[in-house]
Amino acid sequence: MSIIIKTKAEITAMREAGRIVADILEIIREEIKPGMETRELDTIAERELEKQGAKSAFKGYKGFPANLCVSVNDEIVHGIPGKRVLREGDIVSLDFGAIYDGFQGDAAITVGVGKVKTKAERLIETTEDALEAGIGAARHGASLGNVSSAIQNYAESRGYSIVREYTGHGIGREMHEEPQIPNFGIAGAGPVLKKGMVLALEPMLNIGDWRTRLGDDCWTVLTADGSLSAHVEHTIAITNEEPEVLTKRTNA
Ligand code: MG
Repeated sequence: MSIIIKTKAEITAMREAGRIVADILEIIREEIKPGMETRELDTIAERELEKQGAKSAFKGYKGFPANLCVSVNDEIVHGIPGKRVLREGDIVSLDFGAIYDGFQGDAAITVGVGKVKTKAERLIETTEDALEAGIGAARHGASLGNVSSAIQNYAESRGYSIVREYTGHGIGREMHEEPQIPNFGIAGAGPVLKKGMVLALEPMLNIGDWRTRLGDDCWTVLTADGSLSAHVEHTIAITNEEPEVLTKRTNA
């Protein structure tokens, strides 16, 4: 099972890791523009991690070569930043993790490059709201299935499909701890959530079918049908009330 936060030092470090992740994602959101190569976004992430005295959670993880996952348009997750040039109207999922004082933070945002089409904007907004629906269902005493089904119902009732092969996860001293958190499921099923657990919820929604394929680089995951995909993520701590969102933007 995931870490159960018990001490002040633990929650302080997890809050700090979460804040660093959220702040750096916002810096990248502000700097992203048409004409940039995706590797420039990774450079920003690396520079800001150093400024914050934090370490990358992703670089070297199972051999991943970058600090940031950059997944464009029909790419769902795990895109490797490189020479690809961003164009007006692209949507870009930025997934980022940091380690501070031995604890991990993990979050993702999907952003539009310049002006994007209404259908892309709607996809991003619905993905953000599906995450909020999941967060709203996550509290002490609730089943994990409540969280999964809240995300699924929100997305599917609005006509989007949920990616099934990739899930959220517990997080703490390790990036991926138990339990796995599918973005689909049955209310009342699965383990019971307890105060102090820390979870990374990360819905991935597609405009078309839920099926995926693996890219030639053996990292990038794409929609099988080429449709647009969006991905957002927060790291949250379970309490008796609404969860504490550790990766919430503090400058908004
Ligand atoms: Mg994650």
